[in-house]
Amino acid sequence: MISVKQLQKQYGQAHILRGIDCEIKESEVVCVIGPSGSGKSTFLRCLNGLEEATDGEIFIDGVKVNDPKVDLNTLRASLGMVFQRFNLFPHMSVLENLIMAPMQVKKLSRREAVLVAEKLLQKVGLLDKIDAFPNQLSGGQQQRVAIARALAMEPKVMLFDEPTSALDPELVGEVLTVMKTLAEEGMTMVVVTHEMGFAREVSDRVLFIDQGVIMEEGPPQQVLGEPKNDRTRDFLRKVL
Ligand code: ATP
Ligand code: MG
Repeated sequence: MISVKQLQKQYGQAHILRGIDCEIKESEVVCVIGPSGSGKSTFLRCLNGLEEATDGEIFIDGVKVNDPKVDLNTLRASLGMVFQRFNLFPHMSVLENLIMAPMQVKKLSRREAVLVAEKLLQKVGLLDKIDAFPNQLSGGQQQRVAIARALAMEPKVMLFDEPTSALDPELVGEVLTVMKTLAEEGMTMVVVTHEMGFAREVSDRVLFIDQGVIMEEGPPQQVLGEPKNDRTRDFLRKVL
């Protein structure tokens, strides 16, 4: 589903991604961990074309992302992205947030888009908030709406960049529960997270990124439980 070959990203002299190789299969859930500044967000942003790769290749479902000819709008429609900070449109109701892109990009009728939105709000447990505005919702609720909004485009892959790290601790669980359900339904997911419990329980594979390379990868029990690399061990000692 995702194939990354020797991905490099430089900002001027700063060499941020220094040769990332990875293959992610359909329905696989991959958690990305690593120190601050190691390039995790940059990696996700390259995957969906928000950042242009300096070198290397990225294929998503056979489509080359870093190709000048690629239609970035079509590409991004196939990738759902959820960020740390809730990125809902503040002046729109929950419903309007959910139906806008499906109507504009997928050309659904309003009626069709509303049906999809209702189904997804039900799924994330927020159907009763359909007419609320983002500032009337808790952070956890906003983040669940953000997930529903991404799903409304029927993405092939969901990318999450620390979706719970801006939340009060008591709101983290409700967001992780929604993500776990998605994973169980077979969604292909790449999740940058500091939630080691989620990584251990839900992911198929953990990538430890440090200084712009994948230093270690493997099943969560191995990478989190018996890390081979000193840097992984060092990092885990600090976060666990
Ligand atoms: P964190 O855990 O803090 O979110 P991260 O692993 O996601 O860190 P990135 O956000 O990918 O790290 O940043 C990696 C490096 O790239 C950092 O040193 C950052 O300062 C630099 N960087 C990121 N975006 C830009 C940019 N637009 N221009 C210049 N440098 C950038
Ligand atoms: Mg980041």
